Amino acid sequence: MKAYVDKETCIGCELCPEICPEIFFMEDDGLANAKDVEISDDLLDSAQEAEESCPVDAITVE
Ligand code: SF4
Repeated sequence: MKAYVDKETCIGCELCPEICPEIFFMEDDGLANAKDVEISDDLLDSAQEAEESCPVDAITVE
């Protein structure tokens, strides 16, 4: 499973890197992105929590 951020939708609220900093990070443009890595089992819960918590549904974990 990998995480993706739709940068057209992200509003830069900084919530996802707070919930799951191992996967999500803020970029210089003020928007979030997700590391291009396979999400390990121990991080899956927090990555999915970030996906569910995003206020604009910009995150996909699949
Ligand atoms: S939680 Fe959603 S809106 Fe907030 S920074 Fe992350 S992707 Fe962007």
